[in-house]
Amino acid sequence: MSGTQLQLGFDYDALDSETRIVVQQRTGEIRGLMRRAAQDIVDIGLKLIEVKEALPHGRFLPWLQSEFKEWGRTSAFRFMTVAEKFKDSNLEHLAPSALYLLAEKDTPETARQEALAIAAKGEAVSHAKAREILDAHKQPQPRDEPVDAFPGFTARVADRVADEAVAAGSADEAKAYREIADSIRPPAKPAPPEAVSGTLFPLPVAPPPGGKLKGFVTLEQWQGMDAKERSGLLVPPAGSESRFNAQGDNENIEWALWSWNPVTGCLHDCPYCYARDIANRFYEQKFEPSLWPDRLAAPASTPFPEAKAKEWMGHKNVFTCSMADLFGRWVPREWIEAVLDAVRAAPKWNFLFLTKFPIRMAEFDFPANAWVGTSVDCQARVKNAEKAFRKVKAGVKWLSCEPLIEPLRFDDLGAFDWLVIGGASASSRTPEWHPPRGWVEALEKQAREAGVKVYEKSNLLERIREYPGVESDEPARAPEALRYLPSPEA
Ligand code: SF4
Repeated sequence: MSGTQLQLGFDYDALDSETRIVVQQRTGEIRGLMRRAAQDIVDIGLKLIEVKEALPHGRFLPWLQSEFKEWGRTSAFRFMTVAEKFKDSNLEHLAPSALYLLAEKDTPETARQEALAIAAKGEAVSHAKAREILDAHKQPQPRDEPVDAFPGFTARVADRVADEAVAAGSADEAKAYREIADSIRPPAKPAPPEAVSGTLFPLPVAPPPGGKLKGFVTLEQWQGMDAKERSGLLVPPAGSESRFNAQGDNENIEWALWSWNPVTGCLHDCPYCYARDIANRFYEQKFEPSLWPDRLAAPASTPFPEAKAKEWMGHKNVFTCSMADLFGRWVPREWIEAVLDAVRAAPKWNFLFLTKFPIRMAEFDFPANAWVGTSVDCQARVKNAEKAFRKVKAGVKWLSCEPLIEPLRFDDLGAFDWLVIGGASASSRTPEWHPPRGWVEALEKQAREAGVKVYEKSNLLERIREYPGVESDEPARAPEALRYLPSPEA
């Protein structure tokens, strides 16, 4: 390599000849190693992809955990993402931390191409440079459109948060959210020419006399039924073969190896909801709130794993309504009572509940075999959760900060026994998300001070991996697609 290429403004002539030769040689070697580091990331990612494709479904993670414990899943998937995006690129002049940033799912392809073009001209693309390119490629707000002060925050969601605030007795908060809803509410559409039905899903009405109702009844069907029809649906059917779902090997929920969904569907409309994606694929009624009467029998009819349950509590823990918010304000009280009756009648099992409408939980008596929790993903939910859970009565009260899409500050975590912190896998509307380590640590600190047990899900960044001279590639904030309630800085 010539001296001209190496100088880059540095005055090598000021050095004595022996020092100059050593420094120039080492400079060339370091450049080679840096090129190799970027290429190594891509090569490792390509090999991981090859193994993933070769292994039977569901075996990749166990293989990863067994062979590369030191990485964890997140690191492996980052290698693979970089490999997918840069496998055919010349990586000279691209810093490894810039590669990770540019490979992210929400990075526009145009930004990636610009970074590669800059690197191809021999200009270094550091992490800071990559960030600058990314920022320049953000979609500009069209000037003649009204500015969306709350990206992704729909009037429907704002109304719902306002309702929750009313229920929690926070009039000021409710007023503030109602104002937000009004400011972003789209103009009313003219009524359709024929008012056939307000439902999204045209519904059959009653089951044939004496015949079996199909597997579910939607909220709208329920509302059209009389008291007798309704009560017939709330008793677990005798001879049912309904069972809990075994969750399989899922390290993220090793503490609940069963799930049970006697109610499905939810109206909260969280952008990152994986349950909605599943429901849209597999349920005839999609994510419409529904009761599945036959499933009410599952706690009684699923064989209890006595021996395994003695070894590990996950074998007796059942994540209840993982495909719904059972305590959503639209859910008929009778459905909730029917679920809780089934829980009471199965004391060997332990049932885990989670809601984004925590104040409603305070209206119910929970049996001892219930762990009752609320989800707080952003600061706007903190106050309601704290307030509501001071009123909720249950043996175990827990808090799920998953996905953690903002740094959170609680005034008082004393009402909770357990805190779960996690990121998000990709959904149809949102990218994969791993909250910055600093946010997780700050939350953990608050929990420790309040004597609350902490569980970190494996979809967090596992360990700190910083290097001198390399800027951190941790994001400062969550991608816009994940953010749907106003954050404190908004
Ligand atoms: S509360 Fe849960 S089930 Fe409902 S939309 Fe949000 S993530 Fe999905």
